[in-house]
Amino acid sequence: MSRRRTPREVISLAAEAASVWFDHNLVQPLRSEPGLPRAMHFISTHRCNARCVMCGIWKETGTRAEELSPEVLSGVLADRLFSAMEFVGISGGEPFLRDDLSDLCGVFLEKCTRIKRFSLTTNGLLTGRMSTALPEIGERARGAGALLDVSVSVHGMGEMLDGIYGVANAFAKIERTIEVLEELRAEGQLSFSLNCVLLSENLAGAEELKNWAAGRGIPLSFVIGEHRSRFRTEGLDEAFVAPDGQEPLIDFLRSLSEDRSQSAVSAGKYREIVAMLDGRKTRSLSCYYAMGGLLLGHDGRLYYCSHSKEIGRCLGRSPREIYYDPKNLAYRRSDLFQIECLHCPPYTRTRWELGKDLPRTLAEIVRHRFPRSDRSS
Ligand code: SF4
Repeated sequence: MSRRRTPREVISLAAEAASVWFDHNLVQPLRSEPGLPRAMHFISTHRCNARCVMCGIWKETGTRAEELSPEVLSGVLADRLFSAMEFVGISGGEPFLRDDLSDLCGVFLEKCTRIKRFSLTTNGLLTGRMSTALPEIGERARGAGALLDVSVSVHGMGEMLDGIYGVANAFAKIERTIEVLEELRAEGQLSFSLNCVLLSENLAGAEELKNWAAGRGIPLSFVIGEHRSRFRTEGLDEAFVAPDGQEPLIDFLRSLSEDRSQSAVSAGKYREIVAMLDGRKTRSLSCYYAMGGLLLGHDGRLYYCSHSKEIGRCLGRSPREIYYDPKNLAYRRSDLFQIECLHCPPYTRTRWELGKDLPRTLAEIVRHRFPRSDRSS
């Protein structure tokens, strides 16, 4: 549950946003190459205990042997490329399947000394492992001055979720996990939220899920299901809303964009997705990967983002050399930024992204607080 910010916090946030806006709109565009990345995502494993209809990673025979161990990860993160990292996310597969997850997190917090926010994305099915590992990870994060945040994937309620996950009693298991997370949140160990991928199978239950999460006071973010090579989605067309049947999806997203119970920035994100889906515009909201991010695979492969092609493997070559390889930077500027980004729906609105879009962020807040009907009366 969010609390009211103090005037001092508001001033500090405003100063930070103004600085990000200045840097990313006036300074960075003048540079011949990007600055050091400040955000990254680490795919800790391809092993998974769920069998989701919209993901093919679990069909691979992912093994522990190909995963970066804490020792090898430590060597990778020693590279200067990671020295400015402030936002780190870890996902999978299912990250809590890794027995050494706490050590992996410890390596990040030790090597990347500027981390402000550390997040874990999970399917929430491993309640026991989570309740054991999270207090330890939380303590490590606090010791490093970072906030720990957990995002639990909940793509529906009851049997709908069981069907999407391919796991019996999945929803009941997640409810137990949420109770654990609520306790840890009350102790000040972490914050947590839920995320739901909108699919052909769960669209009809999305409103009910939204109301359930709101009733429990847990933030819930919706993203649209889409093909992504990283999730091995070839052949999974049926899971996604068909291009010629998107009206209910657009209607739901539009209702979110007009829903005063959503935050102003969430409403703005949904408004952008609606405009992209009904063909009125290409993406205009900022993306933290494009501002300066990267994705590190479980086996050391490096990507500019979750839609990027592989740009190299960190085990045989310096990550910094790979990231700044002129051929890779040319790919980033052209194929990625000029083609992929235009049709990539936003799925986050981080503080960093909001700062870069500062005038628009402020306009969204005004629009949300004083909707058109209020303004005209
Ligand atoms: S393709 Fe999408 S995720 Fe990748 S940099 Fe562009 S907007 Fe960001």
